[in-house]
Amino acid sequence: MEQCDEAVIATNDDASDCKCSAVRLGYWKDEYISYFVRSAERKAPEINRGYFARVKGVEICVEQFLKKTNGNCQIINLGCGFDTLYWRLKDMGHKFQNFSELDFPTVTAKKSYIIKRNKALLSKIHESDGEVRVSHTDLHGPSYHIMGVDLRNTDEVEKKLMQAQIDFSLPTIFLSECVLVYIEPKHSINLIQWLASKFQDAAFVNYEQVNMNDRFSSVMLNNLKSRGCTLAGVDFCLSLDSQKKRFIDAGWTGCKAWDMVQVYQSINASDRHRIERIEMLDEGELLIQLFQHYCLVLAWIGNVFQDIEITVE
Ligand code: SAM
Repeated sequence: MEQCDEAVIATNDDASDCKCSAVRLGYWKDEYISYFVRSAERKAPEINRGYFARVKGVEICVEQFLKKTNGNCQIINLGCGFDTLYWRLKDMGHKFQNFSELDFPTVTAKKSYIIKRNKALLSKIHESDGEVRVSHTDLHGPSYHIMGVDLRNTDEVEKKLMQAQIDFSLPTIFLSECVLVYIEPKHSINLIQWLASKFQDAAFVNYEQVNMNDRFSSVMLNNLKSRGCTLAGVDFCLSLDSQKKRFIDAGWTGCKAWDMVQVYQSINASDRHRIERIEMLDEGELLIQLFQHYCLVLAWIGNVFQDIEITVE
């Protein structure tokens, strides 16, 4: 572990607190996040709406992927933190062969410990009494795996994926929500290049900062810096084009990207109108600025997943 890894690990607590704040107010349903977060304070309405768009945006892509593959697929959540997608997908009745989660061992040890102690979480992993194997940092169920690893080390990542019985020939979707941006470019490029060389049929959903070249983004960066965190990959976050170029240069077949203004508009109108009634915004402009500074990127290998779409109304 490197010195600033502690600050990067702490970003998971922040993300989990924000998700929990929005869930408690009714932005979306998640019966599981509160197991991982003890006492999340209520966040500003803009933050709650921002997280709503983030979680829905990722879900929109994953659901299209699951439909296209008919469940004959794998999901790999890179830098998973305390994300609860596995349990939410199970509750929605979705099928998949393998759901694997990777993060620093400090994070996966905590997540595994919480899973082991809570029946509501563990029972969804057991799946009709399947065996669950645990170590301090890793947990393996019949189709759910969580493993501690540094994503900068692809040899270790490969070992962990083999332990999770990942099938490199099966359609696979990778998720990274605010993760690559914390990794030095040489390592994040190496990781996505390596994935492109190992998998034949894959999609990658990346959510992170974009348009980081104006006054608003300097405030965002200073805010992070005050918490000891630097955005090592900020050069990829200058524009939607630089986001896409990273994947193409790393050997992915194609890539598209949307800012979160577009993603928000693609969310089902009745869902949007419902959440817009939860809290009043003091200033609509601030939310738009936030949305303009985050994006969803979809990259693919092969030619099966290029039509996964964020459809702006
Ligand atoms: N994706 C989760 C979510 O959206 O709720 C967590 C997001 S949090 C902002 C970033 C996560 O990436 C943290 O859990 C952190 O530990 C993980 N991460 C960053 N760099 C990593 C690395 N080199 N190896 C493993 N995990 C890493």
